[in-house]
Amino acid sequence: MLLVGPPGTGKSMLAQRLPGLLPPLTIEEILAVASIASIAAKPSAEIASTRRPFRAPHHTASVVALVGGGSRPRPGEISLAHLGVLFLDELPEFQRSALEALREPLESGVVTVARAHETAQFPASFQLVAAMNPCPCGYLGDGSGRCHCSKIRLDHYRSRLSGPLLDRFDLQVELSRVPLARMAGPATDGGSAAAARSVGEARERQLTRRGTLNARLPDRALWQELPLDRDGRRLLNRAAERWRLSARSCTRILKVARTIGDLADAPDVTMPHVAEAIQLRCLERLL
Ligand SMILES: [Zn+2]
Repeated sequence: MLLVGPPGTGKSMLAQRLPGLLPPLTIEEILAVASIASIAAKPSAEIASTRRPFRAPHHTASVVALVGGGSRPRPGEISLAHLGVLFLDELPEFQRSALEALREPLESGVVTVARAHETAQFPASFQLVAAMNPCPCGYLGDGSGRCHCSKIRLDHYRSRLSGPLLDRFDLQVELSRVPLARMAGPATDGGSAAAARSVGEARERQLTRRGTLNARLPDRALWQELPLDRDGRRLLNRAAERWRLSARSCTRILKVARTIGDLADAPDVTMPHVAEAIQLRCLERLL
């Protein structure tokens, strides 16, 4: 997930809440997380918890610190975030080489660190949440007129993120400032506990249906077996043509649509699910 919005819109807070919405680690998962922490020589207080890991390395982190390596290969932040959340705030400020090194593990869920004499493989199946400002000053599009970033500065800022990296964000969400009047009003949803329950139920539906989560479904199986109605298919085709979406994007949209359906306990994927999934990739058209 990529969160784009001016400073103070709660991007970091939302990312920090995500581990709490995911189900607790199973015994086997706790052991996996603890083993990685122990190889990385992390203090034991941080390990053996049922809460999913949350790692938020600073944008000055080196490639080795982020993906792992060293003369005696050690796991990096992406492995310490295994089965949990890796949060990269100020995404365009990270070294480009470090960001590009994330692409492979994001697909495979493992990272291979090769040195002169040995090769090590560490698990790195994590949820990537990144945040960025809409422009270098942060105020573009907030209605205040405070942003005076030039087109060249804006292009330079956004060009730090490659197309293939952006393509890997299934949810690209724009956040805007919440008016004070709404913040002072009563909360309208059921809160974190209700959200966590609904996430747990949606995951159960996926595991019951195919024995794996939607994100891990093989692409071919998805296209062949997914019950997608005619209108949904037509909408996806039209969006693909209009925004020249890659095959990867279309597959990811379909997986998100299936998940939106699972959250609503819908047996089939229909047009509204596809429409919402396309909307959640909106930045592909903006950036
Ligand atoms: Zn600006």
